[in-house]
Amino acid sequence: MKRRHFLGLAGLTGLTGMLPGLSFGFPRVKLEADPALEPLELTEAQWRERLSDKAFYVLRQHGTEEPFSSPLDAEWREGEYRCAGCDLLLFTSDMKYDSGTGWPSYFEHVEGHMLSQLDFAMVWPRVEYHCARCGGHQGHVFDDGPEPTGLRWCNNGAALRFVPA
Ligand SMILES: [Zn+2]
Repeated sequence: MKRRHFLGLAGLTGLTGMLPGLSFGFPRVKLEADPALEPLELTEAQWRERLSDKAFYVLRQHGTEEPFSSPLDAEWREGEYRCAGCDLLLFTSDMKYDSGTGWPSYFEHVEGHMLSQLDFAMVWPRVEYHCARCGGHQGHVFDDGPEPTGLRWCNNGAALRFVPA
């Protein structure tokens, strides 16, 4: 993974600041990788061997699963949500809430374990985020979440592995 390709949200704020009159509604969060994390870099063949077809599509090809397709959307037990690619802890059950969107949703994330970049796939830019260790695509973060953060981390269930407490 080439970290310099990731644009922190501090950069996004600067970008929108250079475009007066345009308001993209970017969440005001800053994502930086924990410097202690050892990046996990595998070849495409190694990822294909390691991941299910669906997890490969989401994590390595920036895919989005169908809404309401993941059992994790309705998972309410206590536990941990780890990256399906490298097992890095991304969320805990007390960060999860029901957004009604059909994707597992969280109002907070484990700091230092997520990176972000701009995504223009939908024309309107969105903030896409990735696992800070393996670079796997997880989902998008929006600013319509509940208090106290006001953020909605909209995550693909196929990109996560739930570990019950
Ligand atoms: Zn990962």
